[in-house]
Amino acid sequence: MTAALEVRDLHFGYGQGSEALRGISFRVEPGECVGLIGPNGAGKSTLLLHLNGLLPERWDGQPPAVFIDGEPVTEKNLPGVRRKVGLLFHDPTDQIFCPTVFEDVAFGPRQLGLNQWQVQQRVSKVLAQVELTGFEQRAAHQLSSGEQRRVCLAGVLACEPSILALDEPTHSLDPHGRWQIKALLGRMKLTRLIATHDLELAVQLCTRVIVLDGGQVVAEGPPAEVLSDEPLMLAHRLEKPHILAHRHPHG
Ligand code: ADP
Ligand code: MG
Repeated sequence: MTAALEVRDLHFGYGQGSEALRGISFRVEPGECVGLIGPNGAGKSTLLLHLNGLLPERWDGQPPAVFIDGEPVTEKNLPGVRRKVGLLFHDPTDQIFCPTVFEDVAFGPRQLGLNQWQVQQRVSKVLAQVELTGFEQRAAHQLSSGEQRRVCLAGVLACEPSILALDEPTHSLDPHGRWQIKALLGRMKLTRLIATHDLELAVQLCTRVIVLDGGQVVAEGPPAEVLSDEPLMLAHRLEKPHILAHRHPHG
C-alpha cells in the first residue's frame, strides 16, 4: 500500500553549519494518527515544514525525500502537495491574518476557486466542527488562545486536506482548551502527524509515536510502550506521562 506520507533519509540545515535534520526516515499509513515527540530543538517543526514544501532551499540538486501519497514534494508538485497537506503552525499569530474569523477560514477555500455559496458552506461546516459556530464576525486577534487555535484548525480543515500536520496543537492552552483540541482531533479519520510535548495526548490519540532528537529518529512504537521506557525518556529530555504511571514497558 502507498504510504500517506513517507520520508526517506531527509537531511536539512538552516545554513549555520549544524544540520537540523540528519537522515530522517519513516512512513505514515492512511488514517494513522502518529505522535512526533522530542525535546526542544529536536527538529519537529523543521520536519513539519518540509511536508508542505515550506523550506525550498532544500531542493537545490538534492533528490526528493518527502512523498505524499507516493508523489514527491518538489517545486512542480507544490500546488497538489499543499492541497493534500494541511499544516497547523506552532503559533496561531503566524496563521491568522484576516480581520474576521469568517474571512480567515474562507481564505483557503477561496484560493481553491470555490464559489461564494460553496465557500459559505465550507466555512459553516468547519466552524461547527471546531465548535465556533456564531464566531464568524468576531475579530480573530481578540479571541482566546484556545479559540484562535480552533480558528486556525478550521482554516486548515476548510481546504479538506487528506493529511493533517499539527505543530504542538495544545501548547499554551488551559486544561479545558487541551481537552477540546484532543476531542476534536480524536474524532477525525484523517491521517494525522502531531508534533507535541503533550505526552498524554500522544497516549490518548496516537497509534504510534516517533521520537526525534538531534534531528534523528531515536525510537518508534506504540505510545504506551515507548513513553513508559523511563531510561529512553530521560535520555531524550522527556518524561513518562502520569497516565502511564503504573505501566511498565513491554508489560
Ligand atoms: P523543535 O520543533 O523540535 O523544537 P526545530 O525544528 O524548531 O525543533 O529546530 C531544530 C533545530 O533547527 C534547532 O537547533 C533550531 O535552533 C534550528 N532552527 C529552527 N528554526 C531555525 C531558523 N529559522 N533558522 C536557523 N535555525 C533554526
Ligand atoms: Mg517546534
